[in-house]
Amino acid sequence: MRKDYRKKNHEYSSLGSSNHISVNIDCRLPGGRYCAKCCYNTEMPLTKEDIERIEKLGYPRSYFVQVDENGVPRLRNVNGHCIFLDPRTGRCKIYPYRPLGCRLYPLVYVPGEGVIVDPLCPKARQVPKDIVNKYSRYIIKLVKMIYGEEVLLED
Ligand code: SF4
Repeated sequence: MRKDYRKKNHEYSSLGSSNHISVNIDCRLPGGRYCAKCCYNTEMPLTKEDIERIEKLGYPRSYFVQVDENGVPRLRNVNGHCIFLDPRTGRCKIYPYRPLGCRLYPLVYVPGEGVIVDPLCPKARQVPKDIVNKYSRYIIKLVKMIYGEEVLLED
């Protein structure tokens, strides 16, 4: 069933400003280049606040938003990677303004498992348990906002 994404975004106010919410891990690889693995074939969903924040940088919504078949806005890919990735350096062109889901990655929500560290991230083992505990509630709020409460109830 198509979910009304717009209705969920009023809940974003309960998160306050997301600028301080960030799982800080060192994404540099040996040699200094940034990993950027999670920026390829991204399916990162966007909140209303994410979209408005990035629009204020001067990017039209149509430039960076791809709406999926369920009505969920997601970061657009070009050439197989996030439109904001500089593939030469592995760096994000809008890093200080990146979406909440990017700030929280490699924490992800997996139905049936809950909030986990995505094992696809090469630095997954560097994320300590206390960081998972600290940021889990933000992942849960993000999931509720974008997909609705029913996704959590399916566990
Ligand atoms: S996959 Fe992990 S280490 Fe690589 S850029 Fe993403 S968060 Fe950083």
